[in-house]
This record gives sequence, structure tokens and C-alpha cells, in this order.
Amino acid sequence: MKLIGLIGGMSWESTAYYYKVMNQEAARKYGGLHSAPILLHSVDFSPIARMQKAGQWDQAGRELSRVARRLQDAGAEVLGLATNTMHYVAQAIEDATKGLPFVHIARPTGEAIRNKGCGTVGLIGTRFTMEMGFYREKLLSMGISVVVPEDGIPEIHRIIYDELCLGIVLPSSRAFYVEEINKLKARGAEAVILGCTEITMLIDETDSPLPCFDTTPLHAKALVGAACE
Ligand code: GLU
Repeated sequence: MKLIGLIGGMSWESTAYYYKVMNQEAARKYGGLHSAPILLHSVDFSPIARMQKAGQWDQAGRELSRVARRLQDAGAEVLGLATNTMHYVAQAIEDATKGLPFVHIARPTGEAIRNKGCGTVGLIGTRFTMEMGFYREKLLSMGISVVVPEDGIPEIHRIIYDELCLGIVLPSSRAFYVEEINKLKARGAEAVILGCTEITMLIDETDSPLPCFDTTPLHAKALVGAACE
């Protein structure tokens, strides 16, 4: 397997899932004691979250590009960014690491949706991912239409930063997400993208009124797949 470079820490709670799923996937593919060769650069999320809030995306892009180059210099052969939101600066990272294959999180997600034959899906994630268009456009380019919540956006966003990123999982927040997924269903969504890497801690198919495309395992497995090519 190739060496996987992973930019993590946004938040570390979900990066821990990536670490586990990537190793499980390597063991599933090769059996026995096999595990995934990983170089993890886990950042301090607090300054990055501040930049997001202040709209300083260029600065955040420069910071994550620096991290990506470090991984490349250290020998990473495949690169992943363990957050949906920060894919807003994916192009800056790719430009900074020319020649290093970058596995965009929306790619395996879109492929899984297409394989299931869904044309319209709901998207829940941070308000940046739901509102800023960079994610929806990527899916649209794969022929997938996306509906996002209406009134629920601020509370969905708050739950991610004030609870899930801190490892807090509340039944009341799960109930809120389920209600929002029901509204997406009523607006024509055939499935829902769990488009924030922490939502995997809160919701799965047993809670959700719609089939789920969970970006955390989809992306983690795709990274292992790319490392095996
Ligand atoms: N991990 C989250 C995501 O997938 C949110 C935290 C962040 O802003 O990176 O979007």
C-alpha cells in the first residue's frame, strides 16, 4: 500500500474515526495483521475555526497547504483532508502539492450516491458546507441534485461546533437532526448526505428516516482504496 497522508484534527473527534476505519479497511482487504500505512498531521482546530468564522478562507487555505506540503515532503503518496468544510480550500491544497493524488471527500460520496441510483439527496453539515455551494457544485457536476435544510441551518451548525466537535452526543440533538432529515424527505430527498465528519457520532441508518451517505467512512475507505491502486 502507498503511504496515506491525512490532514486531521478538524475536529480530532472525527479524525479518530478516520484512523479506525482506514485500519479496518486495510485489514478487510488484506486480512490478518495488515493495517494502513498513515502519516497523520493533526492540526489545532481552534485557530482554523476562528478563521472560518471570520471568513479568512485564504489564510486557512495557506495554513492547510503548508501542512499538506509537510506531509508530501515526509513521503505521503496519497492525500486526504478529514473534514467536509475545509474542502472549500481543496484547490489551494492541490495546487500546493502538485503530483500528489488528492482524494476529494465529495468524490466517493457522489460515487456511492450514483451507485444507489439516487438523483436528489439532502445535505446536512456545517452552515459553510450547506450554504457556500462548493460542495453542492461538486455533486451537481456528478449529476446529483442537492437540497439543504431551510430554518434548521443555524441549529444544525451549532450542534456540530458546540457539541459534536467536543465529543458531546445528546439525544435531543439527534431528535433535531431526525426532524430536519424528515423535512428534507418531504422536499424530495431520496437519501441524506451526512456531510460533516462528526455527524457519524450522532446519526446512523437506524435513526434516520432516509438512507444515509456518511462521508466519514466513505472518505476513509476511499483513501485506503487510492492507496491500494
Ligand atoms: N468536520 C466538520 C466537517 O466535516 C466540521 C468541522 C470543520 O469545520 O472542519 O465539515
